[in-house]
Amino acid sequence: MDHQHHHNEHSSAQPMEHMAHSHAQHGEHQHGSPGMSHGSAKDFLRRFFIVSILLIPLALTNSAVAGFFHIPLFALGKWIQFGIATIIFGFSLVFFQHARHEIMMRKYGMMTLVSIAVGAGYLFSVASTFIPSLHTEFYLEIATLVWVLLFGHYLEARSSAAAGNALSEVAKLLPKQAHKMVDGKEEEVAIGELKVNDMVLVKPGEKVPADGEVAAGESHMNESLVSGESKPVHKGKGDTVVAGSIAVDGSLTVRLTRVGESSTIGQIQKLITAAGETKPRSARIADKAAGVLTFSALSVAILTVTVWFFVFGHSFVFAITLGITVLVIACPHALGLAIPTVTTIATSLAVKNGVFIKNLSKIEVIQKADYVVFDKTGTLTTGSFGVTNVIGFSGVDVAEVVRAAASLEQHSSHIIGQAIVDYAKAKGARLSEVLDFKNVAGKGIQGSLDGQPYAVGNVAFVRELATLSTEAEEQIEAVLSKAETVVCVVRGGQLVGMLTVADTIKPEAYETVKKLHTLGIKVAMLTGDNERVAEAVAKELKVDTFFANVLPEDKYAHLRALQQQGNIVLMVGDGVNDAPALTQADVGIAIGAGTDVAVEAGDVVLTRSNPADVVRLIVLSKKVYVKMIQNLVWALGYNIIAIPAAAGVFAAWGFFLRPEIGALIMSLSSVIVVANALLLRRVDLEQRT
Ligand code: ADP
Ligand code: MG
Repeated sequence: MDHQHHHNEHSSAQPMEHMAHSHAQHGEHQHGSPGMSHGSAKDFLRRFFIVSILLIPLALTNSAVAGFFHIPLFALGKWIQFGIATIIFGFSLVFFQHARHEIMMRKYGMMTLVSIAVGAGYLFSVASTFIPSLHTEFYLEIATLVWVLLFGHYLEARSSAAAGNALSEVAKLLPKQAHKMVDGKEEEVAIGELKVNDMVLVKPGEKVPADGEVAAGESHMNESLVSGESKPVHKGKGDTVVAGSIAVDGSLTVRLTRVGESSTIGQIQKLITAAGETKPRSARIADKAAGVLTFSALSVAILTVTVWFFVFGHSFVFAITLGITVLVIACPHALGLAIPTVTTIATSLAVKNGVFIKNLSKIEVIQKADYVVFDKTGTLTTGSFGVTNVIGFSGVDVAEVVRAAASLEQHSSHIIGQAIVDYAKAKGARLSEVLDFKNVAGKGIQGSLDGQPYAVGNVAFVRELATLSTEAEEQIEAVLSKAETVVCVVRGGQLVGMLTVADTIKPEAYETVKKLHTLGIKVAMLTGDNERVAEAVAKELKVDTFFANVLPEDKYAHLRALQQQGNIVLMVGDGVNDAPALTQADVGIAIGAGTDVAVEAGDVVLTRSNPADVVRLIVLSKKVYVKMIQNLVWALGYNIIAIPAAAGVFAAWGFFLRPEIGALIMSLSSVIVVANALLLRRVDLEQRT
């Protein structure tokens, strides 16, 4: 019941309705950092304004203020004080709710301290109203404290809402299309437009867009995102598949049985919500420190009251005032804000620069990068291949080669495949149905067409499947020498044709490599393509090392090798074949336009699919790192000095602090942390060469 309550409130803080929804589904999820606010910015601002107005009569009836301005005090003054302070106290109950949550979660933090301070101050004041001899009235101090805290929380809630907004922008950038089959033809439609009984094609590496039943095709499905089961399950005709499961090696035609809620749009939101819950390592340090500081603040407060009252024999009101000041000033508020404010701004800056950081805990690692390893096709090159030449062998017609290749490639998510299909369609080829389709990552595809087994893929793949005639070998050699990508078509055990495709290097790839070098970072390229093409691209881009003919598991091994030499390695890739390497890398970076598996495996997604954004990410992470350290040092330093000051340790020099001054100092320290983080907005992420 309690959770329920908390959730309603939390939801209102969420800038996106749908995010709030997915939160509710998860039940337990909470922003854990002690400094993070759980109220909405608007709500805090409303409370702040009301309290501002109430403060005026409260101040005017306060004996000290009234005395200062020579305002006569009237008899009912103390009851007016009591009344107004009680209303203000009512507005501060929001802090108590959060404190209760902190206590229940055993994450004692600033709300706990604030609540004890405000609660104690209010109760002592009320006691004094009824038993005047007590002289423990701090209505005005407590009210001012509440006022300052409300404003602080308004600022904080606003900044976390900004981060939420930045992330919701990502939702628009991530691919959300499905291949709908209409009269045997493939059409790209938004997932939101899918209806029950629609037929959709799911290609290798892609997610099933909504729940359904397999109508044709077969594939192993990775359901780890849906059920947590990590072993792929085989699905064929008649089996049910759930939204979000990923086709590993085959392609499926799925008849949808349930759309909406469970569709992969929800998955993207889950991804974004999950991203919002990750935090940098420094945030964990800050959280731990905040917990420790909360306890030390409480102990010091109790000690302060005890020492000043019992040992030094001061009045109780004096001792309590100091105690409350300690609680207030020692709030690890700045510490709670130190990292979240930086990450908030970093997140939205990143989004603006084409980078979605799925896993914020990698931010400290990114800035230490020694190596960036790029996949070639689709990452450094556009992948918008044009078919430049088609050859038929053993009397097979060129048109037949194109038809066969394209029929199989319809089921492939590989960009080479798309290029071939586009080419065939432009030539007016009639594509046929393919059975037993299978994707062999990093090599090519297989399937049966017109009752015969076919394979389409690179030279290495073909050598495994067919014995090549000297004519074929000569032709292959001729094409390879031109440094073009070759796609061979095998029927039975015989090479029947060859398509050459030309890829173009992304214009931004040149500056990417250059800028990484200026940053002192080495660049490597891994590709499943042939040696000649790889070498040509590597030379052109001036990368430090390259590896060609690399299979998915080899990509992984190459990365391991680099890591074992003591390098921090970032891997950038787009394909099914890149997923293992993306997971193995210190930081996996997926190309947004790439396959769903890559996006899932990555810690970061390049939403514009621009490799140069990797440089921006690294520059950003370096600046963010510095900010986080600055804020941590400042926030910790503040508490170390402020606590003894509030406790009256410097009393020998006549230095005491009042609770409201404590609140002001505490808020000021937070403002400094926030302001320092805000400076990040102005940073220039362009690395010059
Ligand atoms: P990269 O690692 O550069 O992104 P891939 O590993 O995805 O390249 O592909 C390696 C090679 O395998 C390609 O250059 C191509 O020759 C071949 N290949 C892979 N998939 C296909 C496919 N669907 N159709 C044709 N060739 C393919
Ligand atoms: Mg690729």
